[in-house]
Amino acid sequence: MRFRRWDILSLVPLATIVALVALVGTLVWILARADAERARSKLATDALWVEQTLRFQLAVDEDMLVRLALDGASGTPMETLQARARLHIAANPEMLSIQWFDRDGRLAASVPRGVGPAGGGLIDTLLRSSATTARPVYGTAVAGIAPMAVRRSDGDGGLIVAAMSLPMMLDRHVPWWIAEQYAVRISDASTTLADRARRPVAQGAPFHTISFDPPLAGTSLTITAYDRPAAFGNAALFGAIIALAAFAVVALLIVQRNALHRRRAEERLRAEMAFRRSMEESLTVGLRAKDHSGRILYVNAAFCKLVGLPASDLVGRLPPMPYWSQDAVKETLDRQKQLATGPALPQSFESRFRRSDGTEIDVQVYEAPLIDASGRHRGWMGSVIDITDAKRSARTARAQEESLARTGRLVTMGEMASTLAHELNQPLGAIASYAAGGLNLIEAGQTDSPLLRTAFEKLALQARRAGLIIRRIQDFVKKREPQLVPLDLAEVAADAMGLMAGEAREFRARLVLDVPEPAPGPVLADRILIEQVMVNLIRNAIEAMATGPRSGDQLTIRLRTEGAMLRLDVADQGPGIPADLSEQLYDPFTTTKSHGMGMGLNICRSIVELLHGSLSHAPNPGGGTVFTVRLPLAATDPAPGTARPYALSDGKQP
Ligand code: ADP
Repeated sequence: MRFRRWDILSLVPLATIVALVALVGTLVWILARADAERARSKLATDALWVEQTLRFQLAVDEDMLVRLALDGASGTPMETLQARARLHIAANPEMLSIQWFDRDGRLAASVPRGVGPAGGGLIDTLLRSSATTARPVYGTAVAGIAPMAVRRSDGDGGLIVAAMSLPMMLDRHVPWWIAEQYAVRISDASTTLADRARRPVAQGAPFHTISFDPPLAGTSLTITAYDRPAAFGNAALFGAIIALAAFAVVALLIVQRNALHRRRAEERLRAEMAFRRSMEESLTVGLRAKDHSGRILYVNAAFCKLVGLPASDLVGRLPPMPYWSQDAVKETLDRQKQLATGPALPQSFESRFRRSDGTEIDVQVYEAPLIDASGRHRGWMGSVIDITDAKRSARTARAQEESLARTGRLVTMGEMASTLAHELNQPLGAIASYAAGGLNLIEAGQTDSPLLRTAFEKLALQARRAGLIIRRIQDFVKKREPQLVPLDLAEVAADAMGLMAGEAREFRARLVLDVPEPAPGPVLADRILIEQVMVNLIRNAIEAMATGPRSGDQLTIRLRTEGAMLRLDVADQGPGIPADLSEQLYDPFTTTKSHGMGMGLNICRSIVELLHGSLSHAPNPGGGTVFTVRLPLAATDPAPGTARPYALSDGKQP
């Protein structure tokens, strides 16, 4: 239906062009006709003008002839009449001659003299008739000469005849401005009697004919324009109109074709949009587009569902967003700033969202540059996946793993302890009994008895055995030698923080690394061991902040140079450490946690001391605890390889 209406509408410009062309064509045709009409009426007027002029001249000639006849009757001598005739001929050369004939048709006098009798059949006809014509009568023109006769009134009954030259008349009496425009012709039914033309007449040129009878029987006067009317102007105009119309139609067709292409492209685009929209709506991944200022440009249904807010509450909104978790506001604003200024590279990170119902969810966000049609980077398109369940199961798995490992460790330690007990039991029992035997001998005064000597020898043997058992266990525990290399502790700290980031987010602790400019120099240490120390201290701090009352959510890892030492602080804002616990903190198996082993700090101190450093703790000003590791800087450190072996079981090693 829509297309049909469009098709009809598309015909309107075409119809308008056709109507316009028809209108302009009609106007031009009417104007051309009016022009032709004007030209025709001018031709007729000019023809009339010529006819009147010629008639007037003939009337003058006729008057002359009549006067000669009348004057002859009133007795004017013939010489006088002839003199007057001569004068008239001189003034009017179209009159070739004037001749007097008697009643028998004989030539009585002629002006000019010596000219042959003119008039032909006219004289006989007139002489035979008895009519007394007051006005001259014209005879048939032959070879352009027309005779004109009047009856003499002097009683003789003869005639006065004048020979009129028609060509001469045209030459003399057609006005020049007529001659410039037209060829003038006097003709009878079959022949041209007189003709005046400046140049040949074009075929088909317009002409006008009027009858010249009277005075000359059977003749007509024709004036003909030299040229055909200029058809070019109209033809050119018509041609231009047709060409313009054709051009307009072609342009219209091109426009319509373009419109058709455009419409098809729009249809394709609509289909594509619908496809993409349904695809986006069917996605379980939340999609969110934002510009560089962080304003939300678009969200899909999955995103709305994820945060529990309708699209109308989100689109057009500027940060901070209602779905940002309170704990993640600063971190998210920082990231927003970094996205606005940093390079347009895809980025992936974890964050926390707060749904409209107050529940918090963990999300994985993947930010990709949002590029517009002109290739400009307009903002960011973020894909957001709810990873709360995945994290929960990972957490559960980790907890299970840890508990398994802990159990494993306890079992191992238990086994080790029972093996130790069992293995040591024997030599210790033997030592005890040899010692008792020895004591008995001494008490009996047999101090020089060879028996006493044998008892002491066996006692020493059993003691060596017990020592051997202990060394074997030491060898078992001491699995590896530490690898001492110069280490940038800022880098190691960043790695340790990366390892603990998930746990920190889970317990809403914000990890901050505070390294001065320039960074402290390297220390000689075993990367794995020192990382283990940091991970232990960070985990303790996170757990402390998660369980007790906290004064803040910040966990600062601070690096400072102190003379020849490097100081590493792990400062939390947790509940702090009670004074009674503070003393035994580094003793093995000291723990306040249900799942704790109480070995962490003990092992940490062993490692730090192995690296010629120290581990201590103090209350954190403003709440919480600061654990401080001090290690010698590499320049003042003993050469690598001089470190003593490190034993997990012995926290008191120097
Ligand atoms: P565990 O972590 O297995 O308990 P540790 O030796 O690492 O063993 O820690 C011993 C005890 O020290 C902990 O149970 C805890 O009570 C206390 N502790 C350690 N670090 C902190 C801290 N940052 N804030 C408060 N108490 C702490």
